[in-house]
Amino acid sequence: MRTTPIDENEQFVSMQAMLLFEFSLSAQRQDFYDVTPQVRQAVVNSGIASGIAVVYCPHTTAGITINENADPDVIHDLLIGLSKAFPDRSEFRHAEGNSTAHLKASAVGASVTVIIENGKLLLGTWQSVFFCEFDPPRTRKFYVKVIGG
Ligand code: ZN
Repeated sequence: MRTTPIDENEQFVSMQAMLLFEFSLSAQRQDFYDVTPQVRQAVVNSGIASGIAVVYCPHTTAGITINENADPDVIHDLLIGLSKAFPDRSEFRHAEGNSTAHLKASAVGASVTVIIENGKLLLGTWQSVFFCEFDPPRTRKFYVKVIGG
């Protein structure tokens, strides 16, 4: 039996839910894959109404980003822009030969955080969450960690 008053912080932490969801993805070509439906499903399954969802990629030649979902030419142009920004270079030493994919992955980043309010993702009208494949073909996975109450 507890003899000291309940610490407010302890109580607060114990009310938080932290749920992890894992998804797999078959990435056959260099592209941005819309994973917003999976992120939404994770939020629904978590039952969390207010909090955050962290979408995380555990790979070194792929990433996660948020960008436009309306005009597919935006993704087309982003892929061209990334390839022009990070071309293959003769000075590269990495024996696997995919340093451009590593560069693109670092530029894009490995995760995004989306706010959840009223059980919904606070994405803008034109925003989607994308898994970015830079070294296809690969079977990939990504995680969605949902934190909140
Ligand atoms: Zn490599």
